[in-house]
Amino acid sequence: MGVIYMDNNATTRVDPAVAEKMLPYFTEMYGNPSSMHSFGGQAGVKIEEARARVAGLIGAQPEEIIFTSCGTESNNTAIWAALKSNPDKRHIITTRVEHPAVKNLLEYLGKNGYRSTFIPVDKSGQLDMDFFYKNLTEDTAIVSVMWANNETGVIFPIEEIAHLVHERGIVFHSDAVQAAGKLSVNVNRVLVDMLSLSGHKLHAPKGVGALYVRKGTKFSPFLVGGHQEKGRRGGTENVASIIGLGKAIELAQQRHDDVNKRIRALRDRLEKKLLEKIPNSMINGDLEMRLPNTTSIAFEYVEGEAILLMMNEMGICASSGSACTSGSLEPSHVLRAMGVPFTAAHGSIRFSLSVYNTEEEVDFVIEKLPPIIERLRQMSPFWLDREGSSNICSIQ
Ligand code: PLP
Repeated sequence: MGVIYMDNNATTRVDPAVAEKMLPYFTEMYGNPSSMHSFGGQAGVKIEEARARVAGLIGAQPEEIIFTSCGTESNNTAIWAALKSNPDKRHIITTRVEHPAVKNLLEYLGKNGYRSTFIPVDKSGQLDMDFFYKNLTEDTAIVSVMWANNETGVIFPIEEIAHLVHERGIVFHSDAVQAAGKLSVNVNRVLVDMLSLSGHKLHAPKGVGALYVRKGTKFSPFLVGGHQEKGRRGGTENVASIIGLGKAIELAQQRHDDVNKRIRALRDRLEKKLLEKIPNSMINGDLEMRLPNTTSIAFEYVEGEAILLMMNEMGICASSGSACTSGSLEPSHVLRAMGVPFTAAHGSIRFSLSVYNTEEEVDFVIEKLPPIIERLRQMSPFWLDREGSSNICSIQ
């Protein structure tokens, strides 16, 4: 068996139909969409078709879509735009489990005159809504809450949050990078003012993203330059990738049911069998309110990195719940925020499936992983001394 790729929340394979659609825009129709000639103009027409596709995915109007370079840029643009448009307000609300594309920006802003409140989560990864209500103030410029978490797949009550934030006249942004294409994300149902998307999470290439900005929302550009994107984002458009994103979205719409039925069933089978076969293992996060393709499983008393290396030797790709920072293996901020015990957070592995995964691949992982964990545990001082090592991660 070749590579078994179960790391689709990190990035996805560019769908061959997407790549095919993009190719002519490198070598044949390579004009600049801003040019006056029709050679460039034809690229502009295709960009508008892609814009309409992106808008269609989330129920928006095409003119409410701005193309960016990635999810990170979309998140940064949304937050900066809200702050610049509300200069008297210095407070931001987000969650403790955001992607670094929001979390690290807010930490930076915290050192530069702004104040951020991070909503805590419980052990299932769900938000403390009381804490959230209590912390909305007159000074709050923007609330930014991800639609679904990239590590655990936990889905947040975005509709309820959006309603509440809107009632208070505060800008609401959601990072829907992991949700789009897997869940129904509709800006008519959910009163979100800005929403971030990223191409490479849904079988489009890396280096393209989009930001939805509701009509009437005060906005100022993050990248200042040319008049592209109606003056809302300077920089010559990444034509081929934007066209690829449009095609990927068309495919995501066609595959919505497959992801929610077949892929969900494969994910469920994978986690059920692994939990049955491997003692001291458990799922991190809410079992119901979860992306259909994602499972984060904690294998107590083993190092996630060691599991990944041994799976890698067998061609299995997944992610761990640790971040290797300055030589020390810190459990991820998401698992720490959920209060996952230290011994479980360290051995947490995220499997994230896509439409390309098969039952055969899932069975391969079910067969190969239990002996890996068993072998590692036999070498683990924590496993051998497990009665005495039940210290809990500190929650920050
Ligand atoms: N937001 C979430 C929830 C993500 O999972 C990611 C990528 O992992 C990003 C933002 C960043 O997206 P990009 O890699 O396109 O910058």
